[in-house]
Amino acid sequence: MTAHEAPLMLSVSGVRGIVGTTMTPEVAAGYAGAFGSFLKATTGKARPRVAVGLDGRISGPPLASAAIGGLLATGCDVIELGVAMTPSVGVMISHHRADGGLAITASHNPIEWNGIKCLDGDGLAPPPAVAKEIVARFKERRIDWCGPLEIGRVTHDHTSARVHCDRVLAQVDADAIRSRQFVVVLDSVNGSGCEGGRMLLEALGCRVTHLFGEPTGVFGHTPEPLVQNLVELARATGSTPGAACGFAQDPDADRLAIVDETGRFIGEECTLVLAALRILQRTGSGALAANLSTSRMIDDIAARFPGSRVVRTAVGEANVVAGLRSNGGIFGGEGNGGVILPGVCWVRDSLSAMALVLELLAHEGKPLSAIVASLPRYAMIKRKMELASVGGMAAVAPALAKVKAAFRKERLSDVDGVRVDFADGWVHLRASNTEPIVRVIAEAATEARANELCDLCERAAGV
Ligand code: MG
Repeated sequence: MTAHEAPLMLSVSGVRGIVGTTMTPEVAAGYAGAFGSFLKATTGKARPRVAVGLDGRISGPPLASAAIGGLLATGCDVIELGVAMTPSVGVMISHHRADGGLAITASHNPIEWNGIKCLDGDGLAPPPAVAKEIVARFKERRIDWCGPLEIGRVTHDHTSARVHCDRVLAQVDADAIRSRQFVVVLDSVNGSGCEGGRMLLEALGCRVTHLFGEPTGVFGHTPEPLVQNLVELARATGSTPGAACGFAQDPDADRLAIVDETGRFIGEECTLVLAALRILQRTGSGALAANLSTSRMIDDIAARFPGSRVVRTAVGEANVVAGLRSNGGIFGGEGNGGVILPGVCWVRDSLSAMALVLELLAHEGKPLSAIVASLPRYAMIKRKMELASVGGMAAVAPALAKVKAAFRKERLSDVDGVRVDFADGWVHLRASNTEPIVRVIAEAATEARANELCDLCERAAGV
């Protein structure tokens, strides 16, 4: 199956599809109408207020217009944010005390894709039961279109980057960072992080070299912030005199990847660990939350701060946030570079991540490469297989059952797919929420052992 034949993906993470085939203005209006109807039913308000932002993809404006139409026609008032980072939509929901929000984004997916992500009145991704209800309304066309006198109104607020930056600045030791006058290279991939990313770094006294810093929506490289896509950032950071680090945002600016001062990619798993280290240095201890596919490094860091613990959750921002909230967590996120700092918003946020890493650099007074060298290191292997090649979604549950049976003597978690913990590593097999793929992720002391764990798991699953 090629990407162009990919189905419309409806999940806990929202809706995603291929522009022009499965993701059309018709889908956007229907999905937004379902969300508006859901808000009316659950808030009891005749005119819920919904903030709408888009990640700057060239396919965004027609989909955003259609989504806004769907909201207005179900009687919602819309706060139109223009191009906005997904975390900024979360910030603006609380800033305006809105009842929910929509981010028109396909996150790190290539330019062919677009999608819609819902946020609730607390600015967080709805829990699975709520997400399912919105999807059911959309599929069954249970949309409460209203009459002419109930149609909603649009207001415009294009200040989300400023409001968001101010929130982040209030959460970090901005003076300590400013005093260091860091030189930073930023790659915003021509996405929604261009304005806010640069604004934050300049407010923190950094001298910024900005790569792909024009929000044209035509991505400067394959957008997922992985080592193979960040060649220019690595080269620019390594060759910029005095550069402290390089940062890469994904198109909707919820994820951050980092290269050190020598231009070496430190791995997307390190973003969460560095930010967690700074948070724990500051607070002494606390509860953190991370998903089951996230590196053991965060457990090792938490172990350095007695009284701290890491709550492990299913993959997906909503699940991590639920873990944070139910455990009074101070910080959390995902190993893909997604950092959640609750004082800013309940959405993974590249701006929070940048500020915490710079605060760590200011506090440690050492180069980033030296800080990274002091972290525990594991080898992590992340494989993915086309869902169709393993027999489609129907084949996933039997495959998981086979893995559970094969490793019944090991420590197992079936909170999300199946994760098997061995004494010297772990492997996690699950179907993606957002793409028609199956992921196999393993971590161990060496790359050879991590590959071996992936092989063992795939063999047991029969895929
Ligand atoms: Mg993203």
